[in-house]
Amino acid sequence: MKRIPVLTALVAVAALSYAVSAQQAPKVVEVEKLKDNLFVLKGGGGNTAVFIQANGITVVDTKNPGWGQPILDKIKELSAKPVTTIINTHTHGDHVSGNVEFPATVDVVVQENTAANMKKMVPATGTVQPGASPPPNIFEQNNGRGMPKRTFKDKMTLGSGADRIDLYYFGRGHTNGDAWVLFPALRVVHAGDIFSGKNLPLLDANNGGSGVEIPNSLAKAHTALGKIADAIITGHSTEMTMNDLQEYAQFNREFLTTVQAAKKAGKSAEDTAKSWTMPAKYTGYTAAAPARLLANIQIIYNETK
Ligand SMILES: [Zn+2]
Repeated sequence: MKRIPVLTALVAVAALSYAVSAQQAPKVVEVEKLKDNLFVLKGGGGNTAVFIQANGITVVDTKNPGWGQPILDKIKELSAKPVTTIINTHTHGDHVSGNVEFPATVDVVVQENTAANMKKMVPATGTVQPGASPPPNIFEQNNGRGMPKRTFKDKMTLGSGADRIDLYYFGRGHTNGDAWVLFPALRVVHAGDIFSGKNLPLLDANNGGSGVEIPNSLAKAHTALGKIADAIITGHSTEMTMNDLQEYAQFNREFLTTVQAAKKAGKSAEDTAKSWTMPAKYTGYTAAAPARLLANIQIIYNETK
């Protein structure tokens, strides 16, 4: 009889520690080597690029809250040089939150609309269920640490020679501040979530995203970068080619044209969503989730007068 409470307590402790360990699941960062001095770190949010330069390291995107230190730990395995610069492709929490875990001396560079968005950290369209409270603003929680220190509007060059990075903004799409980060010596560009993979894009109208502009912005990127880059680091998928980018621009253009024609014909957004299927020629594209499909159609309807 005496032993039962002890056993109960032991079971309770075991259950508790299990719950804690599930919460603190190990944060595994996987490394993919693209070039001798360019790596992609996967897991924990958007794809992170690590560019090792003569005197330091530039990091593009820093994943979800709590993933900054795992990124720093993994970088230590690749190089003893210090991280000097962070570039965020856009404002979303799965691309910027790790910023707060980097040394406060690190330079943070973003497109100017993204700097404005990061002050507010408004959740992306469709990501917070009605009635649920949005996640806290991680930069407010950390007294502004990790916030942008420098911005650009259309183009900015950082460094020179083998270390050079060119930042471009080609217009609205996923948000109104999607930066394209080109490593010219390596002919590789990080596109962030304006090209997150072969899929129906997330159009974040809350942060200036646009279904009408995304085909133009993607086409401009292809025109500007098509002859100076070979490979694209996507926001969340595998690496893509410039032909993949051209196809993705065309896919978004066709989607826009189809949806605008349906609106003109007087169809409701719901009916348009019901009748749309992924065109068979877009092989390898992920089937559209019904909620994403309807949201994108509604955004295009709202933008089309
Ligand atoms: Zn995003």
